[in-house]
Amino acid sequence: MITQPCDVIIVGAGPAGAALATRLARRHRVLLLERSTLSGSSQRPPAIGESLPGAAVRLLQHFGVYERFCADGHQPRGASVSCWDQETPVWLDGFRDPLGPGWHLRRDRYEQSFRQAALEAGARLVQPCGRLQLQRLDGAWQVLVPQIQQRFQAPVLVDASGRGGVLARQLGLRRCAEHSLLCLHLRLPATLATAVAPSDRCTRVCADRRGWWYSVTLPGGDRLLALHLDPADPACRRLLCSEQLLARARRQPLLAEVLPSTSDVLPVFACRAGGSALQDHNLRGFYAIGDASISFDPIASQGLFHALATAEAAASAIERQLGDAADAQVDYQARLQIVHQRYRLHHRATYAGPAARFAEPFWLTRAMA
Ligand SMILES: Cc1cc2nc3c(=O)[nH]c(=O)nc-3n(C[C@H](O)[C@H](O)[C@H](O)COP(=O)(O)OP(=O)(O)OC[C@H]3O[C@@H](n4cnc5c(N)ncnc54)[C@H](O)[C@@H]3O)c2cc1C
Repeated sequence: MITQPCDVIIVGAGPAGAALATRLARRHRVLLLERSTLSGSSQRPPAIGESLPGAAVRLLQHFGVYERFCADGHQPRGASVSCWDQETPVWLDGFRDPLGPGWHLRRDRYEQSFRQAALEAGARLVQPCGRLQLQRLDGAWQVLVPQIQQRFQAPVLVDASGRGGVLARQLGLRRCAEHSLLCLHLRLPATLATAVAPSDRCTRVCADRRGWWYSVTLPGGDRLLALHLDPADPACRRLLCSEQLLARARRQPLLAEVLPSTSDVLPVFACRAGGSALQDHNLRGFYAIGDASISFDPIASQGLFHALATAEAAASAIERQLGDAADAQVDYQARLQIVHQRYRLHHRATYAGPAARFAEPFWLTRAMA
């Protein structure tokens, strides 16, 4: 089998990997490997995570995708309302943000557009790529892609495989994890959701005794409802039933006013949502971006911005490394450490509010961690 040379191999074509490929492929030979076609297919449940802050504009412009982004029908974010530190709702108007209110994304469209932009920039995309075989040979990375029976070699390998950090795991790198968190989520179809609150565009967040809720109307009118709780909570199994999940949500006045009553059985999805971060390593030419570098507790609403920001920071470092700068990778990792330290401080402070209200282990352990 002939080994094909390239400059950068990126594993994972989610928001981080596709952005990095778009940024690098204009000047370098980039191979982008993705295990699945887009969500909504039978291969994976609908992707969750749709809030993008206004600060992303500059990065989208820098990646050359802003016009495409504006044409994709994402919806400007409305106000946020939360019952977090206190029972009384607190409103925050996003339009006061100097960087703009941000968006609720059509998530599939967002990822599709970035993959398209990467292709147009010259990246080679293989999806589905199958189970990759990875090895380090003579200072270069080699990846065998079973789906197309081809082997590729590059000086730079990027893990953009999301919070699973598949490559880092294969390479035996360490990841430090925060408290586990499970997200149970469902989508109420627009036909049901708009009957109760036809024009509600608010992001609704509330602390529950042993977890927290998030609900928002998605572009297109479906309503997302998500509960985050400890995976060891005995209620988890019961709440996988949509009727039970909706009944518990209705105990929150902030949610009850926008939730329709329905006897329809809706699929409830479960996903891991706890934060974690890849530890420092000294594998030359190996980068992790997006969730594979640091995955945030969703309360931070920071993951999609971080995907773009790490794609940009890694692109600069990789270009310097390909030009022989020895310290580029170290600088990149040092930046990640700073981001992680700041996030940890905010995370503790955020959980401290409800900890004072509920004095439950779910809140207390997170406020002290
Ligand atoms: C419950 C929840 C709510 C969230 N809400 C928000 C929010 O409102 N706002 C926000 O900014 N962020 C939110 N996030 C986080 C956000 O979704 C992620 O930060 C973002 O998706 C990270 O992008 P990524 O490209 O790093 O990883 P991912 O989106 O996970 O993409 C990784 C890609 O790699 C592919 N892949 C995985 N393994 C392999 C493999 N072995 N071979 C090839 N390809 C592979 C996957 O198929 C996928 O396409 C939320 C997260 C959760 C869990």
